Amino acid sequence: MIYQIDETHNSRLTSWVASANPPETDFPIQNLPFGVFTRAGSSEAPRVGVAIGDQILDLAACMGAGLLTGEAAECCAAPALNSLLALGSEAWTALRRQISDLLRADSPAYQADPHLGERLLIPQEQATMLLPTQVGDYIDGYASKYHATNVGSLYRPDNPLLPNYTYVPIAYHGRASSLVPSGTTIRRPMGQTRPKADEPPVFGPCAQLDYEAEVGMLVGPGNPLGEPIPIAQAERHIFGLCLVNDWSARDIQRWEYQPLGPFLAKSFATSVSPWVVTLAALAPFRVAAFARSEGDPAPLPYLSDADDQAHGGVALTVEVWLRTEKMRVAGMAPHRLSRGSLADLYWTPAQQVTHYASNGSNLRPGDLLASGTVSGPTPDARGCLLELTWGGRDPLTLPNGETRRFLEDGDEVIMRAYCEREGYARIGLGECVGMIASAG
Ligand code: CA
Repeated sequence: MIYQIDETHNSRLTSWVASANPPETDFPIQNLPFGVFTRAGSSEAPRVGVAIGDQILDLAACMGAGLLTGEAAECCAAPALNSLLALGSEAWTALRRQISDLLRADSPAYQADPHLGERLLIPQEQATMLLPTQVGDYIDGYASKYHATNVGSLYRPDNPLLPNYTYVPIAYHGRASSLVPSGTTIRRPMGQTRPKADEPPVFGPCAQLDYEAEVGMLVGPGNPLGEPIPIAQAERHIFGLCLVNDWSARDIQRWEYQPLGPFLAKSFATSVSPWVVTLAALAPFRVAAFARSEGDPAPLPYLSDADDQAHGGVALTVEVWLRTEKMRVAGMAPHRLSRGSLADLYWTPAQQVTHYASNGSNLRPGDLLASGTVSGPTPDARGCLLELTWGGRDPLTLPNGETRRFLEDGDEVIMRAYCEREGYARIGLGECVGMIASAG
């Protein structure tokens, strides 16, 4: 592990930002996730901030006030995290330590000026959050064997899990231009489908719109073209994690995906959560890599590393919640559809990074590598409706009696993720939210 548990993870640390101290917050002082924000309705330039309780610490303002110094702090006036991500883990760690020291309840800067927050904080409810990085390339993986087996069973009952699965961290290149920040309304896509196998295909609004609950990795320094990333170095190239909703048009997908894989069924929109929780913050929540079942092959040597096998997993809980238009009008809270864990993925983050660069392909700072749907072994851990309703065969019943096979117009999908461990502060990724609008 490149990040050790240190003073920044100490559960006894509290902040002078009072909203960061209740145990249920996603953003205590032990977390310190990075994002890009501007003040809603203002013409202020977007810049880098850190979530603390229900506030944002304006890092550019901190630098301007001389409270943060160094090359990493200088990157925080930028409208995206890319230049910070290019610096690498030592610079990130030094910046994390400075921010932790600044936000501590006993911070000398706060002791000297109890009105510090008026200059350095803006309430999250007054901010507009942007995509955290300018994403040059976006890769979507398929790292849950449970998801791959369930989807395979639906699409290819005779041949659910293809023989390459246990050897290759399967992925495809997604579309970076249609990545959108959490909160963006998602228009139901149009597309070509073939609802009846004995009739010609038709073009019209997607009738089987779905979400996929995924976790995104944001790439740090990356690799020059032609120079692969050895697995022992892979985590140096991961800045942190966010939530990703890979909206999926299942009827379009089923008709178009062979032989070249996902295309228009996925490229209409992908939602990304605003806060990037660093691998450093996740240090207390690392677990062993997925335990392969007997009969599965060991990873090939380039994907095998003793440290990664011992600590390469992340015990991050991922939840999906749904609120329909009727629920919203009635003032009902969202209903939880599933709860899975990133630790149930067959491939570790390091194995994915190493595989994606193994042919010499260059990963670049700010690239987004999504995990693939985070599904676990039990039915309540299935991270998309395709699996939860078994292709629409078994509709879900919601608390108000409504049923769902796939998403309807006005449905709001809310993803949340968090880590909990005895003796450590709970940390969260916040939310990734999107609501479905009609095809027009
Ligand atoms: Ca996906």
